[in-house]
Amino acid sequence: MIPLIEKAFQFPSRIAVLDQEQHYSYQHLLDKSAAIATNLLATQKDLNQERVAFIIPPSFDYLAIQWGIWRAGGIAVPLCTSYPLPSLEYVIDDTKASFLIVAPEFEDLLSPLRAREDLTYLSSKEFVNQPTAHLPDIDPARGAMILYTSGTTSLPKGVLSSHQTITAQIKSLVQAWKWSENDHILSILPLHHVHGIINVNSCALWSGAKVQFLPQFDPAKVFDIFSEGKVNVFMAVPTIYFKLIAFYETLSGSEQEEIQKALKKFRFMVSGSAALPVSVMEKWKEISGHTLLERYGMTEIGMAISNPYDGERRPGHIGQALPGVFVRLCDEDGKEVSPGKSGEIQVKGNTVFSEYWGKPEATAKAFTKDGWFKTGDIAIVEDGYFRILGRDSVDIIKSGGYKISALEIEEKIRAHEAIKDCGVVGIQDEEWGEKVVAALVTDQNIDISELKNWLRAQLPSYKIPKEFIFLKELPRNALGKVTKNELKKQF
Ligand code: ATP
Ligand code: MG
Repeated sequence: MIPLIEKAFQFPSRIAVLDQEQHYSYQHLLDKSAAIATNLLATQKDLNQERVAFIIPPSFDYLAIQWGIWRAGGIAVPLCTSYPLPSLEYVIDDTKASFLIVAPEFEDLLSPLRAREDLTYLSSKEFVNQPTAHLPDIDPARGAMILYTSGTTSLPKGVLSSHQTITAQIKSLVQAWKWSENDHILSILPLHHVHGIINVNSCALWSGAKVQFLPQFDPAKVFDIFSEGKVNVFMAVPTIYFKLIAFYETLSGSEQEEIQKALKKFRFMVSGSAALPVSVMEKWKEISGHTLLERYGMTEIGMAISNPYDGERRPGHIGQALPGVFVRLCDEDGKEVSPGKSGEIQVKGNTVFSEYWGKPEATAKAFTKDGWFKTGDIAIVEDGYFRILGRDSVDIIKSGGYKISALEIEEKIRAHEAIKDCGVVGIQDEEWGEKVVAALVTDQNIDISELKNWLRAQLPSYKIPKEFIFLKELPRNALGKVTKNELKKQF
């Protein structure tokens, strides 16, 4: 049996989902997913690990289809709803999907794939209710899902996780963040990444809590829903908090007061997927009264490190290892670093994925001989709290014999009152090996030599960018992560 679905049988009559003014119970979700599984099993008894790609907006239907695929024995491959056709085909081909389920609003985009003989094309609106087939018994060690990494550093990689892995990821977060059936979360994140699928939806459903969908992020609607006073948990990426703050600042005093009142009643609020600027954390605290709980994770491992639920949540830090997750820092030779030294984050535990889909060499390279997953992220421990210095490939700049953290410089520059955002990278340079350069987003006139003087008071000279450019905005991917390889091209 699939643990997440088995759990739902414990609270059939509770409301699981609020979507477009409709309420759906856990029983409804179980019935609908069984019906979908039956549709998928039209000609066989068990999909037996066949891949089922689906493109469905975040909604009750999305969950019913994801669970339906699982209950039929398939591997769910959720597609990004904002991708153009070639990127969708890349995922469909890479996973060798044998089914494609399409929501009505995507029929036009995907209609060219109807003719493919290797793919059974199904319109989600054509699923019919019929007596439920005998559903296969699913071994939790089986593959459940292939999710693609965000593609921040190179082409997205398919990550295969089993039901067991997903269950371990959920249990760790439910325990650490004290989820209960009284929780009610607003789900605004895309549902082809761990953040939305596991942290938001699956943790809520595991707990008998409510998931409320807002298909399209819109700051005004988010605040309207908050003001209704029912939602008590929220999770987002830093850019979303940034946009909420910008919108809040356009509101009148009385509107702001009402939002403040509603936000104070929340149980907790989370940020992750990219480094949370301290300025955003502080501003959000002023508005909401909440210290955002920042955590660190990856498609390959779910969440691994989190600030504490009860203890101090430290700005600029990601906290400590989550329950059941083992974390260590290693140097380039694979030796654990001594206390206070920086190193690569390596992770072990039941929360770690099975393999990069169809890429045995990449899988082999991603693990140490003794089975630790190499994240490629560099961090340091300060007073028992991990702090991310950046990705080894793009954020750790090797310049003049130094290893420089781009994130640390960005954090300093962002503290300048005239600067809205900035991205730091290293570019090839004969003299320095790599040269530190910065892209700035501002609507003011900035004198670069004054900015450099200002920075000299806070950073050693080798960390001061040697070149600055101005951009309207930084290049970002769908999750709001700065795509540094794109940014480098701007220099
Ligand atoms: P790709 O692997 O395709 O280049 P990606 O690594 O961005 O893309 P994800 O698995 O979605 O794909 O993201 C994981 C990465 O996100 C981590 O390796 C880390 O670099 C970054 N990250 C996640 N949480 C945080 C955080 N709190 N602070 C800083 N970075 C974070
Ligand atoms: Mg990655």
